[in-house]
Amino acid sequence: MQLATKLIHAGVEPDPSTGAIMTPIFQTSTYVQAAPGEHKGYEYARTQNPTRHALEAALAAIENGKHGICFGSGMAATDAILRLLQPGDEVIAGNDMYGGTYRLFTKVVARYGVKFHFIDMHDAANISNYVNEHTKLVWVETPTNPLMHIVDIAAAAETAHRHKLLLCVDNTFASPYLQNPLELGADIVVHSATKYLGGHSDVVLGAAIVKDDALAEQLHFFQNSCGAVPGPHDCWLVLRGIKTLHVRMRQHSENGAAVARFLRSHPGVDKVYWCGFEDHPNHAIAQKQMRGFGGMMSFTLKDDRMENAFRVLSSTRIFSLAESLGGVESLIGHPASMTHASIPREDRIRNGLADSLIRLSVGIEDAEDLIADLRQAIE
Ligand SMILES: *Cc1c(COP(=O)(O)O)cnc(C)c1O
Repeated sequence: MQLATKLIHAGVEPDPSTGAIMTPIFQTSTYVQAAPGEHKGYEYARTQNPTRHALEAALAAIENGKHGICFGSGMAATDAILRLLQPGDEVIAGNDMYGGTYRLFTKVVARYGVKFHFIDMHDAANISNYVNEHTKLVWVETPTNPLMHIVDIAAAAETAHRHKLLLCVDNTFASPYLQNPLELGADIVVHSATKYLGGHSDVVLGAAIVKDDALAEQLHFFQNSCGAVPGPHDCWLVLRGIKTLHVRMRQHSENGAAVARFLRSHPGVDKVYWCGFEDHPNHAIAQKQMRGFGGMMSFTLKDDRMENAFRVLSSTRIFSLAESLGGVESLIGHPASMTHASIPREDRIRNGLADSLIRLSVGIEDAEDLIADLRQAIE
């Protein structure tokens, strides 16, 4: 079955009691048993919920996995994956990653004796240089936030498996429409469904998707034991959101291309980071592993001062100044003062995050309106 068909039908069966075409929101905490242990597979809603199961089946199908395991947020999904590790284990991760993941790794999980190496993954072969007998997991984000670096997932998988390591890919930025890491050899895919999967900026939810039965069993155990489960209404919102993922992503990609080209032609703009440009350093890999380039990008101003960025950020009328991404509406943000504010300026600049760097999540409004909005905001 092709993705567009799966997005609409996977996981969703007519409700057995009424025939309702859309899976109902099973807003219940428990299920009645005819006699102790005599039930229909549902005992308690932290452990099982039919709305959640429908979403989990849909996510497994659209990532070409076997098991979807949903959590209350992307961070809760990431946390569950890190619980696969023991004290003394080591993780190799990219050095340009979502700030919340970096915080979880360094401020929470590191306290339990897990060691992290944050490395340059432009060339996936670099991973081998950090492997030792304690290494268990490789953590990849691609495209990265906010500089849109591309990591070669197939090469990372090959390296990870040669050393018997698990490879986890955070596929939030690409979404299953643009990229399927499990197909490229990843063992685990993690999503913040808050972003493109939900797609309407109205829900916070996360998921892990795997093929391996034993890995799924462990993650289900953490889902139930630690209890960071999403509510049925939130599951329903994501289930509804993914039905239009393909239509939205096509438009995000089309608008993204138009906005990126406009920015590049603007005399006030210095660099534009978007993986669809032919001269993007890893464009060939993006072309190989992605089906499009999406609507995420960032750019710097010729006059690289924070106050210049602030002027642009407060002048847009259609782009809203806000954290997050992946919704139908266009958002604009300033990594140096928002998502990456906790990183010391020197380190930030060294990693390419200039003072005037502005990130866009290009929505699915009319592209000409979006360009006109940016034109009047950038001098
Ligand atoms: C937002 C985000 C997360 C965290 O997801 P939440 O749903 O906000 O917990 C993780 N990774 C990436 C790439 C993100 O953009």
